[in-house]
Amino acid sequence: HAKRTGKNRVVVFCDEHAKNAAESYRIEQALRVADFDKEIELVFQPQFDLGENKVVRAEVLARWDSPTLGSTGPDRFIKVAEESGLIANITLTVLQKTITTLKSWDQRFPLSINLSGHDLIADQVIDQIIDLVHNSGLDPTLLEFEVTESAMMPDAQKAADNLGRLAALGHPIALDDFGTGYSNFGYLRTLPISKLKVDRSFMENLTDPMSEKILHSLAGMARTLDVECLLEGVENELELLMAKRVGAQSVQGYYFGIPMTAEELFEYIEEPDMWHEQPQRSVAFGQ
Ligand code: C2E
Ligand code: MG
Ligand code: MG
Ligand code: MG
Repeated sequence: HAKRTGKNRVVVFCDEHAKNAAESYRIEQALRVADFDKEIELVFQPQFDLGENKVVRAEVLARWDSPTLGSTGPDRFIKVAEESGLIANITLTVLQKTITTLKSWDQRFPLSINLSGHDLIADQVIDQIIDLVHNSGLDPTLLEFEVTESAMMPDAQKAADNLGRLAALGHPIALDDFGTGYSNFGYLRTLPISKLKVDRSFMENLTDPMSEKILHSLAGMARTLDVECLLEGVENELELLMAKRVGAQSVQGYYFGIPMTAEELFEYIEEPDMWHEQPQRSVAFGQ
């Protein structure tokens, strides 16, 4: 194989490989000494309900401001945190801050947080999550958990059991990045999920008629499972139109606001007509 692709290719690959390894190593070192309570910040992205015509929930997304690496997005640090066994600390920090935020709003607005597959197969992490919520006195129906199918695959039974524990307490469960995993229907129907979040990659190339058919069938799967269908990655009017056409109940994406601070989100909720006038108003925040 190396011969067929030529010498240069191999060198390029090794360079790239070494660069990634060095980057991961730097991130891991910084994660090990990080004070998550200080360095992790939360941003919030609105989820818009097409039936109610308003923002009904927001997804919590982690941002890491590292003293050595600077501002670092989750696409760079979550995987490294999982591989080095530090993800649970991040999850619990995000959860704690989310609870504080919910309470500061008098529990008037529901939020959703992302769980890692590593969290789901670790009983003690789920115990800690349950304890934190219980001790805070928070209404569990206000706190949704998002999980991906692929994250649950290493130990599907354990993951399903732990999701069941969270669902039994009243937490809504959403399946994230739907359509990118294996979508084993037999397995999916056993999960206590109330929402499928269709991955934003399906919003690309909408001029291709096949894209609409695929979106249609993904939304159809949600209907078959009798769960809500949310389309991610809605960036413009055309994509919003498509979401309505395929029968999605809700949407999330830059068209309705990029991830923003808690204060900005709350202003946004209190002013429900705002997105009509300036859907991109929050472009300067978050990321
Ligand atoms: P996700 O859960 O699927 O979150 C959606 C991601 O898509 C976010 O990126 C969001 O900023 C981005 N996004 C939203 N709307 C649009 C759009 O219209 N166009 C485009 N191009 N992108 C859009 P972000 O914040 O960088 O997060 C990336 C991933 O990192 C998340 O994907 C999630 O899997 C993970 N993540 C973020 N925060 C946490 C966390 O607290 N814990 C864990 N375990 N994972 C997290
Ligand atoms: Mg998510
Ligand atoms: Mg997603
Ligand atoms: Mg994603």
